[in-house]
Amino acid sequence: MSSNAASEGTSVPGAKDAVVILGAGPAGLACAYRLLASGIERPVIVLDRAKVPGGAGASFRWKNHTLDHGPHAFHARGDEPEQLVRELFREEPGVLLDRTKKVKVFLKGKFFNYPLQVREALLKFNPFVSLRIIVEFALTGMIHLLVSIPVESFEDWGRKRFGATLYKMSFGDYTRKVWKTDPDKISRKFAAEKIQGFSFINLVKKLFRIGGQVTEPYFQSVIYHRAGSGSLFLRLAERIRQMGGRMELEADVRSLAHEHGRITSVRYAKGGEEHEVQVGFVVNTIQLPSFIRLLGEQAPFVARHHAGKLRYVSLVLVFIEFSIERIGEETWFYLLDNEFMFNRVTEQKNLSPYTMEEGKTVLSFELTCRLGDEYWNMTDAQLYELALADCKRVPALAKHISAITDYTVRRAPAVYEIYFRHFDHHAEVVLGYVQELQNAVTIGRRGLFLQGDMHQSVEMGLEMGKRLAAHDRDASEPLGKLKSDYIRQYVRYLEEY
Ligand SMILES: Cc1cc2nc3c(=O)[nH]c(=O)nc-3n(C[C@H](O)[C@H](O)[C@H](O)COP(=O)(O)OP(=O)(O)OC[C@H]3O[C@@H](n4cnc5c(N)ncnc54)[C@H](O)[C@@H]3O)c2cc1C
Repeated sequence: MSSNAASEGTSVPGAKDAVVILGAGPAGLACAYRLLASGIERPVIVLDRAKVPGGAGASFRWKNHTLDHGPHAFHARGDEPEQLVRELFREEPGVLLDRTKKVKVFLKGKFFNYPLQVREALLKFNPFVSLRIIVEFALTGMIHLLVSIPVESFEDWGRKRFGATLYKMSFGDYTRKVWKTDPDKISRKFAAEKIQGFSFINLVKKLFRIGGQVTEPYFQSVIYHRAGSGSLFLRLAERIRQMGGRMELEADVRSLAHEHGRITSVRYAKGGEEHEVQVGFVVNTIQLPSFIRLLGEQAPFVARHHAGKLRYVSLVLVFIEFSIERIGEETWFYLLDNEFMFNRVTEQKNLSPYTMEEGKTVLSFELTCRLGDEYWNMTDAQLYELALADCKRVPALAKHISAITDYTVRRAPAVYEIYFRHFDHHAEVVLGYVQELQNAVTIGRRGLFLQGDMHQSVEMGLEMGKRLAAHDRDASEPLGKLKSDYIRQYVRYLEEY
């Protein structure tokens, strides 16, 4: 340990030990911001292993472009997270762009609107497929009304709502491709978490033109910083520093010392040295299983065992530069058919033209895989060839292939939480253990094993910051109650639905 670390580890007499936040993604930053804005008397320290703050929402420079890790538009709901984002840029009118997402799916050689409009699908499919879909749709609806058939898996859920053919075409094949798992092994709770607002009744209403909203309106309206998603978090980190918070980047958290149910210190590696900081509270926003691993062998076997059952898929992003002004109007489109290796194509220029060099556009191609599998281990050149092969299968892209000038590849480990059947049981045990730690909370998409967006992580960070600051001023309300109320509010998968 460095000498600097030794002094870090010594408490100043009379000073309160720090609130240490693990992770400077949207959740960790929002929590630090709110703790400081609420006037907490403890030092607030944010640790992240990345070079820049923002977690998965950070951007990076490539040539004269600023790129996000896949699309990262901030959903606008008019509530606290949105107000915070607007407040950060109050004095710079015009830097926040209000956009409506244009999302499509590419299926059987044609583009369809997303979310799926049943009417459009029926009109565009060949008449035999359409007839089959209608008959299955009606029959499965009736059967499920008359007989109670258990819905255990994502596949059961999809078949019940859409009938076998429409389910397979719109969700089944795609789910297998993205999650690298048979949809029969995925929990039905995945549908409730991920495909919110997608209701059978509303689809039918839409079909017969009697109203019906197939997705919540907020999913369509987004805010985007003209210089890329990461600019939101660079500014938030700047505010945290201005308010007296400490940001330690390139600080890889290695272990958490704990005794009698309290975390006493955090060790992290930075600049080739080990550092240790004494803690009053820990706010975790890193992957839940990683957090348990940091607690080491002293954590109960049962918590470690169940944490090991929580799994992720990783992501490879191939960015292809085209020397043309723009390819299309879509913000992104999904590649649903099995013949495609990649899941989604994004034209970030449609969120902000200022992120790209003039006269050029960059498309990002997303490929999910397992950490260390054949795709993860492919060379950049091999991955580019795969993306190019997918380009050739989409006429709207194929006609621009001669305009390709360059590419780059990024790999992101453990980005999508897999909701295997019974994942909720494993998560419940792990969250139950964290509940017992007297001075630690776990929040955010990563910390709670959720499927949420940046808006949700910011909301969770702000809410926890507010509650912790209040608790620190007046500890009459036990931390245990604060934590269980919070989990009840945000972790819907623990409910029976
Ligand atoms: C391809 C893709 C597209 C997406 N598109 C959108 C979108 O359009 N809109 C939207 O709102 N959301 C989108 N999301 C979701 C969004 O990225 C997440 O909801 C959000 O980033 C979660 O924030 P978080 O703070 O909970 O976690 P993260 O952003 O993952 O932050 C966790 C942080 O912990 C740090 N960390 C982990 N381990 C350690 C360690 N040992 N030591 C130190 N630091 C550590 C990481 O470096 C990271 O910075 C997308 C996600 C992906 C993968």
